[in-house]
Amino acid sequence: MNSRMLAVSLSLAFAAATPVGALAADAPAATVSAAAFQQAPLPYGYDALEPAIDRETMEIHHGRHHAAYVKALNAAIAASPALQGKSIEEILSAVSTATPAVRNNAGGHYNHTLFWTLMAPEGQRGAPSDALKARIDADFGSWDEFVKAFEEAGTKRFGSGWAWLVWSEGKLKVISTPNQDNPLMDIAEVKGTPVLANDVWEHAYYLKYQNKRADYLKAWWQVVNWTKVNELFAAASK
Ligand code: MN
Repeated sequence: MNSRMLAVSLSLAFAAATPVGALAADAPAATVSAAAFQQAPLPYGYDALEPAIDRETMEIHHGRHHAAYVKALNAAIAASPALQGKSIEEILSAVSTATPAVRNNAGGHYNHTLFWTLMAPEGQRGAPSDALKARIDADFGSWDEFVKAFEEAGTKRFGSGWAWLVWSEGKLKVISTPNQDNPLMDIAEVKGTPVLANDVWEHAYYLKYQNKRADYLKAWWQVVNWTKVNELFAAASK
């Protein structure tokens, strides 16, 4: 478990997140209310994941759903002075003491920021590293067993949530979380460092797949950014 390494690997994605507290000392009141967390642009075109994920789904998912989590997170933090100036990882690690609005929206912002980096356009997706494949074999028996476990984590999550591959207590585990919870939260049943994650909220797939979540989960493997997954696994398991 090495959340610091994840923080480093996500530092680009979260680079725009300027804690309010950092500005507060000398800034006029109007500046203090400026957004604490900002949403990074999608790192590829909205149509870059077609046909597995259609353009309209990506436009709505990134441009409206993720944007709404960021807006609501900033509002929740504005109402929680003790959280101002904290990093997203610090907020998640003590989320049991925060309001439901902070829990839902800090999770929503973190999960989506990670999620966009776990997918890539054709030609930029790479392949699972030998080290990752060996570890998957050791912890799941085979690659196919891992794929099956990950898809089941997604299909069996009742309602909304996420499927995860995490590095936890010296091994890879597949888990799922409800709503916008994640394995960095202190309230998580299984804590760990995310290596791979898929969003199984209906908003992630409904336009193209309707009620067929299992079909979405199968198609999603086509767009996974294995270069990024390899990097997260190497950092977490070091
Ligand atoms: Mn989502």
